[in-house]
Amino acid sequence: MRITVDEVKCCGAGQCVMVAPDVFDQRDEDGVVVLLDAEPPAVLRPAVHEAASVCPAAAIALDRRG
Ligand code: SF4
Repeated sequence: MRITVDEVKCCGAGQCVMVAPDVFDQRDEDGVVVLLDAEPPAVLRPAVHEAASVCPAAAIALDRRG
């Protein structure tokens, strides 16, 4: 799985950080998402899928290949 985030779409809501704090963080200055791990281990995949589904801005994209 490879993750990409769209910083322009992100509205800084922070749901992704609450669901998957090992993968997502937020910039201190404006709350925009910071991707900590673009290719997380399998154990984190359920949390990453949940983060993508709860993101209100649809700013998290998942590529299931690889
Ligand atoms: S949940 Fe979506 S909008 Fe909120 S911080 Fe994460 S990527 Fe940004």
